[in-house]
Amino acid sequence: MRRIYFDHSATTPVDAEVAKVVMEYMTEKFGNPSSIHAFGREVRKAVEESRERVAALIGASSKEIFFTSGGTEADNWALKGIASANRKKGNHIITSSIEHHAILHTCEYLEKQGFSITYLPVDENARVNVEDVKKAITDQTILISIMFANNEVGTIQPIKEIGEIAREQGIYFHTDAVQAVGHYPIDVGEYNIDLLSMAGHKFYGPKGVGALYIRRGVKIAPGQQGGAQERTMRAGTENVPGIVGLGKAAEIAKNNMEKEITHVSDLKDKLMRGIVEKVPDVKLNGHPELRMPGNVNFSFLYVEGESLLLNLDLKGIAASSGSACTSGSLDPSHVLLAMGLTHEAAHGSLRLSLGRYNTEEDIAYCLEVLPEIVERLRSMSPLGANSIIHESNPCSSCSLH
Ligand SMILES: *Cc1c(COP(=O)(O)O)cnc(C)c1O
Repeated sequence: MRRIYFDHSATTPVDAEVAKVVMEYMTEKFGNPSSIHAFGREVRKAVEESRERVAALIGASSKEIFFTSGGTEADNWALKGIASANRKKGNHIITSSIEHHAILHTCEYLEKQGFSITYLPVDENARVNVEDVKKAITDQTILISIMFANNEVGTIQPIKEIGEIAREQGIYFHTDAVQAVGHYPIDVGEYNIDLLSMAGHKFYGPKGVGALYIRRGVKIAPGQQGGAQERTMRAGTENVPGIVGLGKAAEIAKNNMEKEITHVSDLKDKLMRGIVEKVPDVKLNGHPELRMPGNVNFSFLYVEGESLLLNLDLKGIAASSGSACTSGSLDPSHVLLAMGLTHEAAHGSLRLSLGRYNTEEDIAYCLEVLPEIVERLRSMSPLGANSIIHESNPCSSCSLH
């Protein structure tokens, strides 16, 4: 059977060139970069070259790149590190209600430690309002953390405007750019970004490796204590194969950025147009233009995202849904709810995230099978257009409950 991968926002396949260098540094070139001998020196050199490639991808200097175990660690470090090093200055942090859990759950932890967090609302397209950011600032504010692009609906935030406000007010600005790095041009200087998180596996690199960009001069506590690695900011023997793979992925992304954006967004436009033409009662989730080139997210009214997902899987198409029913939670996506979607629309959401290796044929195949699946599910569904969904039980639309 045909197998099509439309879940690039969850993770990407590893580029063959990346896999090759990872293998090289898992086998022949196994030295510890802290060792003085030749085995160590060749590896140290590779780690530093990788740092330069990662820096080049976001317009940073290599001294401002610190390798981590991925996006979650980078987010944790940014928030906790700034909070603890700047506590005397203030205890207030501004973020948004649609961040990844790596940010939201870290914020909840910081609240327990005595920090005060403002979770900004978003509009119906999942965008933060710049005026809301301004209004939320107090004399206690030490950090603004707003994601570059949302992982569910792909909406790109007004990063440059928020960066300007933060800079004017002398407040640090962090962005979780895990979805955007490698897929969208980012320049930390132009955007006034002080801290930025990225993850290798979201742009064709290995899992378990990422980086935190920390602008020179930013006051932040180390990520963890131990040896002198990462200039004493993040102790522990480096994940050399991962780091070298991340550097390779960064180099490939930088060299192919424009070409890839064109390829992926052409496919995305075709898929979006096709779905709107062939399936009635659909609603696009996320901003119509200011969205990631590969992100397609629709709510299919009167069906459940999970049923769609499972039926697509049977046809060989891998996608994902904005409803968390399958993960055992009763709540649909916090992102879709923050955008003001009804529980029913949130439960009917489907994300198709496209990538480098997808083709026109993949799109055509999807447009062949998806409308059939939706029609069949709707014809069997107790949630038909005429059924009543009780307001008092917002999750009555999900049969799994
Ligand atoms: C995937 C993701 C993360 C977490 O990154 P990991 O490397 O999986 O820990 C954080 N933020 C966003 C926006 C993501 O998409």
